[in-house]
Amino acid sequence: MIWDELETGLAGLAADGLLRRRRVLDSPCGPEAVIDGQRLIAFCSNDYLGLANHPALIATVQDAAARWGVGGGASHVVSGHLRPHEVLEERLAAFVGQERALYFTTGYMANLAVAPTLVERHDAIFADRLNHASLIDAAQLARAEHIRYPHGDLDLLADRLQQSRARRKLILTDAVFSMDGDLAPLPELLELAERFDAWLVVDDAHGFGVLGPHGQGSLAHFDLPPSPRLILMGTLGKAAGVSGAFVAGDHRVIEWLMQRARPYIFTTASSPVIAAALLTSLELIAAGDDRRAHLQNLIAQLRDGLTGLPWQLLPSLTAIQPLIIGENQAALTLADQLLTHGLWVPAIRPPTVPAGTARLRISLSAAHTVEQVDALLAALRACATPHPPLPASPS
Ligand SMILES: *Cc1c(COP(=O)(O)O)cnc(C)c1O
Repeated sequence: MIWDELETGLAGLAADGLLRRRRVLDSPCGPEAVIDGQRLIAFCSNDYLGLANHPALIATVQDAAARWGVGGGASHVVSGHLRPHEVLEERLAAFVGQERALYFTTGYMANLAVAPTLVERHDAIFADRLNHASLIDAAQLARAEHIRYPHGDLDLLADRLQQSRARRKLILTDAVFSMDGDLAPLPELLELAERFDAWLVVDDAHGFGVLGPHGQGSLAHFDLPPSPRLILMGTLGKAAGVSGAFVAGDHRVIEWLMQRARPYIFTTASSPVIAAALLTSLELIAAGDDRRAHLQNLIAQLRDGLTGLPWQLLPSLTAIQPLIIGENQAALTLADQLLTHGLWVPAIRPPTVPAGTARLRISLSAAHTVEQVDALLAALRACATPHPPLPASPS
């Protein structure tokens, strides 16, 4: 019976330490979370600038709801494209210095839109092995040849691009790898795209708002020259603190996506209230140098404080600071120990990360204080100290 199979499957997940459990928060997104009546310091969210619960965004949403109502009522290509959506796209394009931008309901949908709409059978996709799941799913949906290169291996990528006879080639990469926090070598990738006549699709979910001057993102961080080969995806539910995503680039690419991308056409536009909130969020991001400077200080504080502890810290300069633990159960145990100290850090396990690399994914936000990061460091030090051996039991 299929239900028995599901039960066996669920029992298997439990035995492997892979069951996911949702916690119910009785508080807004922020450094302090209330769960089951307990107040925890949370290092879980991607709200890197602390905007998700910002008073200016809340006020914008209230005003926008009064002016525009709540629902868009239809797809953007029917009657769901309201003025706030249109203005948002203009501002986004200007902010990231691209010709045009298209707003999507989520980053997952934006990624599902790009590759499958630009390439098809007889084309080829070249993708970093550590890319986000949505890029992997997009490549599968695209039905093009899907070549996955080892993380950051530019030589291998160059070889495969050289050998390829595909008519259209698409290089897909995270800009900041979501579970490791490191940066893709974007200038070198763009050079390869130019040399081998390919498009470079950059998923900047974790760089937008955080990296580069004014938080313009990873392309600005590397000071990449404008190029019609670049297609930028940025999400708006992380540093921007709201929800949604955008794809920006050459106006012909964006027009084609608007005309043809199924995840754009066959879904209801997100609320105009969300678009209005994002306009305020963009202003806060642009004026957010203090927030970004504080975040960088917290990152340095955390990394300094973690040296000498038994777990491997990955070389990340971003708000994502993973501590590699190894086994699933060990990562879960450490996360549970931290909970008893009032600290909430998620244990990330396969299939989100490769087997044997289960980790604590510490994510920092400009909303955290120095004291909160100190509390995390003190608790990790306490957990790292081996417990004294139990007295031998009489036999
Ligand atoms: C979060 C994330 C996405 C998906 O964005 P959503 O707006 O949450 O759907 C895509 N790519 C990367 C790298 C991400 O981290």
